[in-house]
Amino acid sequence: MPGNTLYIVVPCYNEEEVLPETARRLGDKLRALMEAGKIDPRSRVLFVNDGSKDKTWEIIQRLHREDGLMCGVDLTRNRGHQNALLAGLMTAKDRADMVISMDADLQDDVDAADAMVDKYLDGVDIVYGVRSSRKKDTFFKRTTAEGFYRMMDLLGAETVFNHADYRLMSKRALEGLAQFTEVNLFLRGIVPMIGYRTDTVEYERGERFAGESKYPLKKMLAFALEGVTSLSVRPLRMITGLGFLVFLISLIMILYNVVRWATGNTVAGWASLACSVWFIGGLILLSLGVIGEYLGKLYLESKDRPRFLIREVLDGETDQKDS
Ligand code: UDP
Ligand code: MG
Repeated sequence: MPGNTLYIVVPCYNEEEVLPETARRLGDKLRALMEAGKIDPRSRVLFVNDGSKDKTWEIIQRLHREDGLMCGVDLTRNRGHQNALLAGLMTAKDRADMVISMDADLQDDVDAADAMVDKYLDGVDIVYGVRSSRKKDTFFKRTTAEGFYRMMDLLGAETVFNHADYRLMSKRALEGLAQFTEVNLFLRGIVPMIGYRTDTVEYERGERFAGESKYPLKKMLAFALEGVTSLSVRPLRMITGLGFLVFLISLIMILYNVVRWATGNTVAGWASLACSVWFIGGLILLSLGVIGEYLGKLYLESKDRPRFLIREVLDGETDQKDS
């Protein structure tokens, strides 16, 4: 059966508590799909250790020894979720025909993988896992996360609503992805740019199986900023619009003052003056900040540094590779 090798890529950062269970469930899923004849026996689970400080890599090594279906990639240090995921996708690309990416914490419903594989077999290249509800997320996580999607949209960063990084991609879609060489990586914004036939699969998002979220509010805000500034120039355009508006207002003010002067009504107003100085000053600083944000991106892109470095790959061949 040519062309049906599936790799499930799982980035892991300090996930020692969930890994054994995740491996068990993903192993079961792979075996079930193999038995159903939908995927090739060479299919694997590929864990990416993103420079964890706990025993994550030791556990991956043990899983690999005990079960041939479990493979691993060890990064040289922590590079963040998106880069770790990319490292996994790029490693799997050369070995698989389709790759599913998912989080280590089992929040994404493993059973949705069946529908993804079915769609792939129907000729779809990218299948997005979309959360049908977030009932099990905490109120805080739910509102901040949904606010995140809305804000992204408002600021011109197109993404698939309520889709995180649970998705299936075909080999050629991954080859497309490999050509996006940006270091400011925001995968869920880039993947829709690849094109090909796409589809979605709905699933219920569960609770984190164990351990705590590796995305506290601070990281989430940084992630949102990363997404907006790496996908869209709309904030820059907004600044232009704002500048234009302020300019218009000042024109009207000048006109008004001239009329007042001509009619002999000049009264000193300190408060309005002070307020407008602060207002304009604030606007200028904010605008400079936004421009600086983009300049910083440009600076980082111009350096063209590697997005990840691989220390070791654990698979059948156990080869070593840099990227
Ligand atoms: N992750 C990673 N590197 C990091 C942070 C997170 O590889 O620096 C992984 C983490 O192990 C998990 C996934 O990214 O598999 C998503 O993280 P998490 O579940 O904590 O995020 P949340 O679901 O709370 O948004
Ligand atoms: Mg999670």
